[in-house]
Amino acid sequence: MTDYEPVIGLEIHVQLSTRTKMFCGCELSFGDPPNTHTCPVCLGLPGTLPVLNARAIDFGILLGLALECEIAPRSLFHRKNYFYPDLPKGYQISQYDVPLCRGGRLGEVRIHRVHLEEDAAKLVHLGESGRIHGSAHSIVDFNRGGTPLVEIVSEPDVRSPEQAREWLQLLRTTVRQLGISDVNMEEGSLRCDANVSIRPVGRSELGVKTELKNMNSFRFIERGITAEIARQTALLDAGEPVVQETLHFDPQSGSLTPLRSKEEAHDYRYFPEPDLVPLVVTEEMLAEARAQLPELPAARAERYARELGLADDRARLLAFRSELGSYFEAALAHDGEDPQTLANWVVGELVSRIGDADPAQSRVAPEALAGLVGLLRAGRVTQGGARQVLDRLVADGGDPAAIVDAEDLGAVGGGDELGAIVDRALEAQPEEVEQLRQGNMRAIGPIVGFVMRETKGRADGKEVTRIVRERLGLS
Ligand SMILES: [Zn+2]
Repeated sequence: MTDYEPVIGLEIHVQLSTRTKMFCGCELSFGDPPNTHTCPVCLGLPGTLPVLNARAIDFGILLGLALECEIAPRSLFHRKNYFYPDLPKGYQISQYDVPLCRGGRLGEVRIHRVHLEEDAAKLVHLGESGRIHGSAHSIVDFNRGGTPLVEIVSEPDVRSPEQAREWLQLLRTTVRQLGISDVNMEEGSLRCDANVSIRPVGRSELGVKTELKNMNSFRFIERGITAEIARQTALLDAGEPVVQETLHFDPQSGSLTPLRSKEEAHDYRYFPEPDLVPLVVTEEMLAEARAQLPELPAARAERYARELGLADDRARLLAFRSELGSYFEAALAHDGEDPQTLANWVVGELVSRIGDADPAQSRVAPEALAGLVGLLRAGRVTQGGARQVLDRLVADGGDPAAIVDAEDLGAVGGGDELGAIVDRALEAQPEEVEQLRQGNMRAIGPIVGFVMRETKGRADGKEVTRIVRERLGLS
């Protein structure tokens, strides 16, 4: 069996959250009654002229800068001609050989280009329930037609389905942080296509690629790419060729079905849009966009690693969910003593209790979590005790020190109190004591367990071990 390496490129469409459409004054809407946000321009009626949305251009520039692209001082709009019921003009206004942005990088994946275009209308296939005079029908909602889009095309730098998912999450966080889209995948404001090919490990020549269309969740994308790699591997192993085609991944059945053979660019008969002048980006526009750029997730993760000494994966977990990063920084402002432990409590303990919710909306105030980590460091609570305190904080909020006192969750101190409990444990388990004396340190487990039961988890395991060794005279 040959070992294959997947080569994956991603194409992402992002709906921009401007107030109005790309080339007319119709307001954007989601969930409004069908065909209530239309006008002669976005319905493609004869004699109308498009007017470019200035805000969409600003958003495109902002994204280009965030992705470290080169912004073209002068780019062009083209007509991409194809006939389909969701496209009333018979063409989509897009960008072709002179896009707004070229090159660039996000994380470890290079960007090929970013361009502006308009969205198509939404086709709804009625299926069985919608049969009219016995035949199946589809209906069109033109509200979406003409919504501003950016298309982001990566270089084929992705090497695994997991990497694709992680990178798309980073992209989504980045776009959200820029404030240019709500990037809601369920509502279709972020849609992803994946180009997938495989090649024998060590070969630089690319295999034949297929395109997986319109996947609308990160999990489906990962599963779809995994399924396509398996399908291509089976074909090549059987000596069959991979055919260049567009595929649909059905997340329910896990199956891949061909949609149509892939169009070539010349099928679209691109030509420059005669009704729009070239798009000129001035130095002032660039300067304004640069001034607006927030700290982006990749830079934030780097800062956490560099300045706070967080491990890379911890830093990324915090930075790629910006609400976690903000919460962490708020807590850090109250207790900057040990950023690593604090980070662990945010991404480990807190997230495991509140899931995807924004911690700022939880009952656990950042200063409370910082306070809890402080109590832990001071030895006033054990790990187990601190977890119980956090349970209370998540349920009811409040002050960790007060909870420790009220619920008697404080660590059982060293010295006499803990020593007395250890003595009882040793007395209760003579067999283990004997084994310990013979040098079998594993026998200490039941003794520590006894102490933990007695103290309801409020003893420090290390301290218990120390006292046991002391009592038995072990080195
Ligand atoms: Zn319109």
